Amino acid sequence: MDHPLILVVNDDGITAPGLLALVEAVQPLGEVVVVAPDSPQSGMGHAITINKPLRLREIQLVKGIRAFQCSGTPVDCVKLAVDKVLHRAPDMCVSGINHGSNSSINIIYSGTMSAAVEASLEGIPSVGFSLLDYSHSADFTAAKIYARFVAEMVLKYGLPKHSLLNVNIPKGGVHELKGLKICRQAHAKWEEEYIERLDPMGRPYYWLTGKFVNYDKGEDTDEWALANGFVSVVPVQHDLTAHHVIPVLNETWDLEAVSQIGLHEAGGESYNP
Ligand code: MN
Repeated sequence: MDHPLILVVNDDGITAPGLLALVEAVQPLGEVVVVAPDSPQSGMGHAITINKPLRLREIQLVKGIRAFQCSGTPVDCVKLAVDKVLHRAPDMCVSGINHGSNSSINIIYSGTMSAAVEASLEGIPSVGFSLLDYSHSADFTAAKIYARFVAEMVLKYGLPKHSLLNVNIPKGGVHELKGLKICRQAHAKWEEEYIERLDPMGRPYYWLTGKFVNYDKGEDTDEWALANGFVSVVPVQHDLTAHHVIPVLNETWDLEAVSQIGLHEAGGESYNP
């Protein structure tokens, strides 16, 4: 592809160092345009703004690159970018580099990944990148090298329809990382614990804390790869259908009875199992 158009988005906001790292990673690969939230939007998942107006403002971020800050969510950024900034679908969308992991089930909560999912819904090859370091001063040197490799591969080979990539990069220097593994999402979850405190009026308030628990000891998972010094690449899809459950429901549910509901209603009787 000759000089592809690359949309860069994130959820940590337009001032996040991770965004700049991703811009630098993909800048040599094509024409880069940035549309990012004007405030941190981590944990927003696939939220969209429907009850208030959205603002888009062009700013100076990196010389020679068009950049816009948006008052909405990461998904709003993608939608506005395609409709009002680019006026077409870009050739690729990259999201991040997030400050903090989006491995395993974190993808469900992640604004970084939801932005990539939204681009994928629009048929745009897309990738979310996350570094396993929450700090503002995180070192993105190794992450940038792997992000460029993945972006190059996606531009060169594309991605199968209805799929996108979730890429997580362990903390550490370039020479500490062992390479990259294609993985499946580990079966893990957050065990939540809300801290309860009292406000100055004596009313309780709650603050979310939790610990991440990995039940999955498989060596083909993203958690295993990351724990062993590899960059994890999980291909994901936005079709959430549990295909294996369709025959189970068809076989076990009393679908014959429910198909009679309309007939009974028409006859003045109500369905009462
Ligand atoms: Mn974030």
